[in-house]
Amino acid sequence: MERRTYTKEDLLIFCDFDGTITRRDLGDEVFRQYMPIGTLQRQLLGRELTIDAYWRSLCAALPATATEEALRSFALAEETDPYFRPFVEFCRENSVPLHVVSDGFDVYITPLLQREGAAEVPRFCNRLVFGHNTPEPIFPLASESCSCFCASCKRNAVLSVSATDSIIVFIGDGYSDFCAAEHADVIFAKAALAAHCTRHRIPHHPFHTFFDVLRILKKLINEHALRPRHQARLRRKEAFETE
Ligand SMILES: [Mg+2]
Ligand SMILES: [Zn+2]
Repeated sequence: MERRTYTKEDLLIFCDFDGTITRRDLGDEVFRQYMPIGTLQRQLLGRELTIDAYWRSLCAALPATATEEALRSFALAEETDPYFRPFVEFCRENSVPLHVVSDGFDVYITPLLQREGAAEVPRFCNRLVFGHNTPEPIFPLASESCSCFCASCKRNAVLSVSATDSIIVFIGDGYSDFCAAEHADVIFAKAALAAHCTRHRIPHHPFHTFFDVLRILKKLINEHALRPRHQARLRRKEAFETE
């Protein structure tokens, strides 16, 4: 394997939104404020519903009061990781491309990113289209080729912007992060994603907040310890070839 030195210029960062940038999972919470969602959630967990069918059922059941403005204000009352903002500033100052990847919806992601000084950060997520009736969910990143159970495939988002020799950093916490993390060189993981990485012996950095992420990332940069992960590169190559 080649022994070149990788620097911050080689980095591409991908970051989950719900439970990673926010404390709670807003994808569920925005709907839960209007109706009980337990039955649909159980069907989703039992794989009786696909995730896009789950979102469609929730959207169809929204009352007329669930306007775009109402969902935006609900989102803006939400707490985010207080260290996310300094993390965004670090990326901006160092010209490190940062992307948000989410299986949730633009209607709550965009206002929160704007509030946190990250308005310009590109986002790969599902969209809600507000018309005359209930909002219609659309899934621009649905994947046929990935085995993940997601409406918005994060692996495909990663592959769509990555050069083959980039060092891909992935930060996340949940099930929808598995496929992208498996294709990433440096993984920051908590909760279900950390458990998944441990179970599959995928090297990762456990973290609680972006304070940890920033500290570890700076250390990797300063100590010239950024390395491609062999398994991740193989998987990316394989995915590129089969896409
Ligand atoms: Mg999450
Ligand atoms: Zn996927």
